[in-house]
Amino acid sequence: MRKTIIEPFKIKVVEPLAMKSRLEREAILQAAHFNLFLVKSEDVTFDFLTDSGTTAMSAAQWAGMMVADESYAGSRSFHRFKDAVTEITGYDHVIPTHQGRAAERLLFGVTIRPGMKVPSNNHFDTTRANIEASGAEAVDLVIAEGKIPENLHPFKGNIDLVRLEAFCEEHQGKIPLGMLTITNNTGGGQPVSLENIKGAARIYRKFGIPFILDACRFAENSYFIKIREAGQSTRTVADIAHETFEQADGCMMCAKKDALVNIGGFIALKNSTWVQELRNQLILTEGFPTYGGLAARDLEAIAIGLQEVLQEDYLRYRVATSAYMAKRLNEMGVPTVQPAGGHAVYIDAKKFLPHIPPSEFPGQALACEMYLQDGVRSCEIGSVMFKEAAKMELVRLAFPRRVYTQSHFDYILEGMEELSSRKEFLRGYQIVDAPPFLRHFTAKFAPLDDIPRKAGTFTVRRPAVLDQ
Ligand SMILES: *Cc1c(COP(=O)(O)O)cnc(C)c1O
Repeated sequence: MRKTIIEPFKIKVVEPLAMKSRLEREAILQAAHFNLFLVKSEDVTFDFLTDSGTTAMSAAQWAGMMVADESYAGSRSFHRFKDAVTEITGYDHVIPTHQGRAAERLLFGVTIRPGMKVPSNNHFDTTRANIEASGAEAVDLVIAEGKIPENLHPFKGNIDLVRLEAFCEEHQGKIPLGMLTITNNTGGGQPVSLENIKGAARIYRKFGIPFILDACRFAENSYFIKIREAGQSTRTVADIAHETFEQADGCMMCAKKDALVNIGGFIALKNSTWVQELRNQLILTEGFPTYGGLAARDLEAIAIGLQEVLQEDYLRYRVATSAYMAKRLNEMGVPTVQPAGGHAVYIDAKKFLPHIPPSEFPGQALACEMYLQDGVRSCEIGSVMFKEAAKMELVRLAFPRRVYTQSHFDYILEGMEELSSRKEFLRGYQIVDAPPFLRHFTAKFAPLDDIPRKAGTFTVRRPAVLDQ
């Protein structure tokens, strides 16, 4: 095995990185009220806020966009898109949408009635919100290991089959569909095993419940099955993906993840039961069934991206990125959720900064300091986002696909080493202004610092012992 990870592509189009000084970043962060969502992307050097829609497209995808057929009805690009989805999933009925949550709203609008319940391993937040908006309850049944950050279970995204069966038994007649999220985004991008997918399918079938995959990261999940699950290593990822989809009755997909594009989504279904009603609703709010709120060039890019994402040299490099980052961070004493997920690394800020209590937002403190250090933008997932309901204080680094190189990651790690060496000097934050809902997007913060601030001295607080 070679030690050096190489990007399995060469670069044809480049974009400059924003290179600001620490001093400039201090002013920028202060002007943004210490909320990284309020920082302009041109002031961010490494943007790890999300892996959604941030993919670099290939030359083949850009070429496909040029030859796309922008006809309102019956576009050639739609048929290319539809054929690509059908080839991978085996599902004949394909409904394009402008992104994942539009697929959710449509499907739940057609299938869910108030008072119903929808089980999954973990529902992603837009999925949960759309289920709740339909008056139903979104129920998470991930295995116990999935909730323990240091647990090394290879498939921490698995659903608890014992609880699922009991749940289906207890709520018979009230479950319009059952789900599984692959990989499990909310649980840290952790994969679900093929065995577990089959087990869930068996239970859903037993109770006559349609089984819908939330398949945003189906390729990453299939690759994890190949490298981690017994008996799977000699199969192609495409073959594993096909078997995965075969277990279910359909899927919803945000194409901004594993379709390697900047916008798009779809619903794909094995049989036609819901299709007519879905198309009626699609026409009402998204667009004609052969474009569903997208330009035909987006459909072309998805068709090509779905094939590219299954290339195993790409997936090897993709999964190696987060594994490498987690391993190097752990070696320098920065704890992360174990094992690394497919699309992101989650730093355990509570453990890393034990001197900052959750009430002073250790995740926010670390995210701000990583921005000051090297212009890294990450996302706090802890008490800022979930208030008192937060179970952990995490900082998520989500990696855009095909965007940053190995030297970028090594550079960031070098900065993290320096940051770690003075972590006792980091201080907490307080919220000075926040909206009632989803406060992490717009809240304003102030550093908890009794020493007057001047440029260049942001994080240099005297150790607590000197203050006494
Ligand atoms: C991103 C995502 C969605 C929602 O997709 P959008 O395109 O952002 O609306 C749904 N489920 C999962 C698991 C996701 O990661």
